Amino acid sequence: MRKAVLVSLDAFFDADLTELQPDGGLTYLLQHGSWCCSVKTVFPALTYPAHVTLITGCDPDRTGIGQNQPFQPDTPAAGRRWYWERKNIRVPTLFDAVKAGGGRCCSVLWPVCCKNPAAKWCFPEVHPLPGENIVLKTLRYGTPLFILRSELRYGRLRSGISEPGLSDYAAAITQDIIRRRRPDLTAVHLIDLDEMRHHHGTFSREAKEAVHRNEERLKNILRTMENTPGMEDALLIAVSDHGQSDIHRTVCLSEALKESGLDSDFRVQSNGESAYFFPVRESSDPARAVRLLEQKAEAFGISRFYPREKLDSMHAAAGPAFACEAADGIAFSDALDINKREKATHGFGPGHSAENCLFAVYGKGIRQNYRMGSIPMRDVAPTVAGLMGLSMPEAEGTDHSRELMLS
Ligand SMILES: [Zn+2]
Repeated sequence: MRKAVLVSLDAFFDADLTELQPDGGLTYLLQHGSWCCSVKTVFPALTYPAHVTLITGCDPDRTGIGQNQPFQPDTPAAGRRWYWERKNIRVPTLFDAVKAGGGRCCSVLWPVCCKNPAAKWCFPEVHPLPGENIVLKTLRYGTPLFILRSELRYGRLRSGISEPGLSDYAAAITQDIIRRRRPDLTAVHLIDLDEMRHHHGTFSREAKEAVHRNEERLKNILRTMENTPGMEDALLIAVSDHGQSDIHRTVCLSEALKESGLDSDFRVQSNGESAYFFPVRESSDPARAVRLLEQKAEAFGISRFYPREKLDSMHAAAGPAFACEAADGIAFSDALDINKREKATHGFGPGHSAENCLFAVYGKGIRQNYRMGSIPMRDVAPTVAGLMGLSMPEAEGTDHSRELMLS
């Protein structure tokens, strides 16, 4: 099995290509490796569904991860659980393929990978709910010795979960595990850019600086790989999950349901730039609901509706009876006070200007300066598996590894 380091640059998309530094790590990867920056993200374009598709090769309708959080309409926003644990994913992951092949895996903040039996070293992405202790929860959801060592050696790099410190920390502990343990698969999720975009805007100075910091982190990880005996032949792979677009107004769709007299028939779960509508009872009629809501579409910033048949064709997860997409500059929120300070977000549907994500691979035997055509996100996992000499029989995507390898 060939080793690989998989780095996710959360919220990187094709518009960022013009921002790359001539001597940056990503520029190096593109010039000396094979890449695509039109990897079409999943619906909705959210971090957890996309990251799960990236490591399973299946769309949300198969993985069961169609949102960051399960639908919990009766729980106040601050108390809602996320899909933290590996057991939420209904299909095998790349980690499972590596373990089945006798390899060892490390995951650093990779979504939906807590309590993952296929990861020998796991630094979990998990948040404390009200009343919970973050330290105890982190230890419980990940690998305690790995976490304690990471904290002792690199804890000074971060302050809580704020960026850019958290991503500096994630990159440092990734380099540390590569040096000491040379995992067969190391997967790390860098959140810096996503955070800067939400807080400061899609193309803000802060977002551009985060792109540059990610390039530096990639460069450092590559240097560590090259300087670690046994890692010289490993692949460095960079991926992303969605872009973002600016918003100037946040809308609460529960109000639209109420005004249309539909609040006893449907409940809404906001995805940022789209929203799901869940039926409350057997007799809830989605076609009627769409007809009534269409009359309020403009007032509530809705640009289009996706009936269930359309959601099925988009491989969206089961549950919602229908969904809608936000108009330009609008975001949906379940609780107005939470998101109103965000300047940009995502969660959109297909055809959006921020749907084109990154897949770049560098290593010995990989075609240099080779640009692939557009692929769906489900193709990433089987392609990575193919490059590593593994197979993922349950993945729905296509394995493009032979196209990327020098013959
Ligand atoms: Zn994301």
